[in-house]
Amino acid sequence: MENCIFCKIIAGDIPGHVLYEDDHVLVFLDISQTTKGHTLVIPKLHRVDVFEMKPHEMEKIFSIVPKIATILKEAFGCTGLNVVNNNGESAGQTVFHYHVHLIPRYGNDGFGIRFANNMRNYDHAALAELRHHIVKSLEA
Ligand code: AMP
Ligand code: ZN
Repeated sequence: MENCIFCKIIAGDIPGHVLYEDDHVLVFLDISQTTKGHTLVIPKLHRVDVFEMKPHEMEKIFSIVPKIATILKEAFGCTGLNVVNNNGESAGQTVFHYHVHLIPRYGNDGFGIRFANNMRNYDHAALAELRHHIVKSLEA
């Protein structure tokens, strides 16, 4: 897609530090290197976000993730690794070509994802209602 920086990397129009590629997927170093080895996995077809991804396209992305994660661990000795994917501006997405971040973790590395506990705003009846709302769509 025109004006998409990741499509330009796929096309070879701008440089990328490519780690792996096949017919469906490109894996390359993230230019921000949030932690050492920070890597992106993207589909070769332009898809904006998770809402545009087809199940078989997602399969291609995630079937390579364990191998790359293991290689990063072996290469850099990380003690953990975050798999992160932002969808939509409100979720922090800044490049609108679907991508999964692999972020190796080293303990005191300054990167942090913490999930706030907001259960004070819910009770079990509220969760049952949320569940019902979701499940009825899944069954439709
Ligand atoms: P997000 O904020 O989840 O959309 O992540 C976009 C990521 O793309 C950021 O971590 C950027 O550092 C990364 N990025 C942007 N341009 C490039 C580029 N030319 N090569 C590699 N990574 C890039
Ligand atoms: Zn693109």
